[in-house]
Amino acid sequence: GNANLYALLAAGFPADRAAVAIETPTRFYTWSDVEEISGRFANLLQALELPPGSRIAVQVEKSPEALMLYLASVRAGLVYLPLNTAYRESEVEYFLTDAEPAVVVCDSANQEWVGRLAEKTGTANVYTLDSDGTGSLALAAASQPGEFVNVRSLPDDLAAILYTSGTTGRSKGAMLSHRNLSSNAEVLHKYWGWRPDDVLLHMLPIFHVHGLFVASHGALLAGARMIWLPRLDIEQALHYIPRSTVMMGVPTYYVRLLADPRFTRELCANMRLFISGSAPLLKETFDEFKARIGQPILERYGMSETVMLTSNPYDATLGERIGGTVGQPLPGVMVRVVDDAGKELGEGEIGNVQVRGPNVFSGYWRMPEKTREEFTADGWFRTGDVGRWGGDSAPANYLSIVGRSKDLIISGGFNVYPKEIELLIDDIPGVDESAVIGLAHPDFGEAVVAVVVPKAGVKLDADAMMADLKSRLANFKVPKRIYFTDQLPRNTMGKVQKNVLRDQYA
Ligand code: ATP
Ligand code: MG
Repeated sequence: GNANLYALLAAGFPADRAAVAIETPTRFYTWSDVEEISGRFANLLQALELPPGSRIAVQVEKSPEALMLYLASVRAGLVYLPLNTAYRESEVEYFLTDAEPAVVVCDSANQEWVGRLAEKTGTANVYTLDSDGTGSLALAAASQPGEFVNVRSLPDDLAAILYTSGTTGRSKGAMLSHRNLSSNAEVLHKYWGWRPDDVLLHMLPIFHVHGLFVASHGALLAGARMIWLPRLDIEQALHYIPRSTVMMGVPTYYVRLLADPRFTRELCANMRLFISGSAPLLKETFDEFKARIGQPILERYGMSETVMLTSNPYDATLGERIGGTVGQPLPGVMVRVVDDAGKELGEGEIGNVQVRGPNVFSGYWRMPEKTREEFTADGWFRTGDVGRWGGDSAPANYLSIVGRSKDLIISGGFNVYPKEIELLIDDIPGVDESAVIGLAHPDFGEAVVAVVVPKAGVKLDADAMMADLKSRLANFKVPKRIYFTDQLPRNTMGKVQKNVLRDQYA
């Protein structure tokens, strides 16, 4: 057979190609539209006669056509490279210089500076694609036939380069193959019980693993309808939830929905599955959601380099969904927790999370050094996350993510895990949320510092908080300083940017 990812996805499309595949507030796209529009784009790309492995860099607003451009790139055997729409000229310059794409597609509003960059980096083909689907790409593709024979791909051929979010440093391009993406799509299809009559409420950006791969592949492979919205808009979400059966979001989506009294159990009666990921879901949010909506959010864990790794169970016979954990390794994925010497740790012990499986990427684009460093001699990928099996009330086969190794604080020679302190601070009355960071300190190496967001209208007393923490924590873990702020810096995926905080309070 053909290992091309699109061939797998298309095998899941319904026999009735006139059924609706994608619905937006203004338009319906049938399954034959998906085939034809992606086919037209694929013919256009193929006509450029690019060498195999050529990259197509895309920085456009979310639209159904943008998804079809992704599918076209896969069908034509090119390497898709989506870029965060928030990136400005100097950032995009880094990605274009690094990736040397043969094709760049941008919003017409950015055409001038993207064109300038493309010239600088020797990219010959620049097209525009606007949020309404129009632009020079659609114009050029209009004369192409809708029928396209998918390029034959081998399992290890690259399908995408996904740049990491840059939460811990400079973004790295994770090289993902057709096999990486197909294997994960198939596993999630079964594990989350995808059905043809599902309706996915898709409100995530599609320049990231969550919205592009996990959500879109899930619905496409199931032949299920997607309600396609550019972002979380509470009014629209409340409007579409009663007709949807599956929703995926980052934790902040759930926090924002819960803040609206119209978000009720009755409204969600048709929903079979709420999924959260990309950043830690607070146990408080998990509990509040379960109490209000009557079903537990399913939290899962993954990253650009690996797609999905672990998930709380959907099928109750596999166990309960446990708040504060990211669940069990997905079928076929191996996960271990090791100490710095590489020794496997037992239940409850905190260490480095390492993984392997058919979903794990082959390396970072043009970073052979970095790639070598992040794989162990026996082929496990070092995720950079710190975690533990079981603990608290979770069984031993449930993983919890405690933080990132780069955020680990070493104070006076002792390891301090920020999350342990953040959880205690968050429990103090009047605290909305917090971030604990390490700052350079002449005596301790690093000093523990907390940045705290008080609940609206609350005035907190730093000294009283420190005294409270002193009674509950070893001295080296107690923040030396507490700063108050209105909100924590977050990126588009809802991740707290601790590097920004470290710079700000240095
Ligand atoms: P960079 O690698 O450039 O620093 P990043 O790691 O944030 O950025 P992504 O690949 O988008 O880039 O995010 C993956 C990371 O997100 C994981 O390594 C993990 O730290 C975090 N993550 C994802 N899902 C969860 C989850 N359910 N709970 C806690 N953390 C999560
Ligand atoms: Mg990362």
